[in-house]
Amino acid sequence: MYSLPYPQLFTSIIVIFMDKKIAFPGDYVASCEEFVPGKNTFAQNDNIYATAYGDVTYDGHTVHVKGKAKTIEQPVIGDVLIGVIEGMMDTRAFVDCAPLEKEGVRMLSKISAVLPVSNIRKGFVENIRDEIRIGDVIRAKVNAVLPNVELTITYPEYGVIKAFCSRCRNTMVLNDRKLICSKCEHVETRKLAQL
Ligand SMILES: [Zn+2]
Repeated sequence: MYSLPYPQLFTSIIVIFMDKKIAFPGDYVASCEEFVPGKNTFAQNDNIYATAYGDVTYDGHTVHVKGKAKTIEQPVIGDVLIGVIEGMMDTRAFVDCAPLEKEGVRMLSKISAVLPVSNIRKGFVENIRDEIRIGDVIRAKVNAVLPNVELTITYPEYGVIKAFCSRCRNTMVLNDRKLICSKCEHVETRKLAQL
């Protein structure tokens, strides 16, 4: 069925020829016992992993991932993402969002997004820290994709879904419409997502 140019690599060749493999960043592509990491790959613990999205190609003893960066799908306006607030300024927050699963396809390894203070709630926000805090988990909607992925949590169903006490980092719980630290009882405010 297949000609085997490298009989000594029998097991790998089978995998290679049976199905053309597409790798996502972080996917295992080969073993260091049989291959040397090439373009868009790295080796760790005797395994070779992809650093880009693309076709896995084997060139003699070297494994490459032929990057397909242009065909990778970006989130589109209206997509809903779950992310963690990683950084904050007075005017915006930086959010690391989990890979988007859509129609059974994992689209990106991570999405770095921006949440402008004007997209937090309708009306004026005096202090962004009354609405979100670093470490909070939010559910947000994609509002724009160029030049950056921009999020909005203005609508009731979007906002903070898990909050951590700014004093002691324990989980905040809702009690009589107040957000109270489960350990030190510090009271804080957030723009919460309503479900
Ligand atoms: Zn606390």
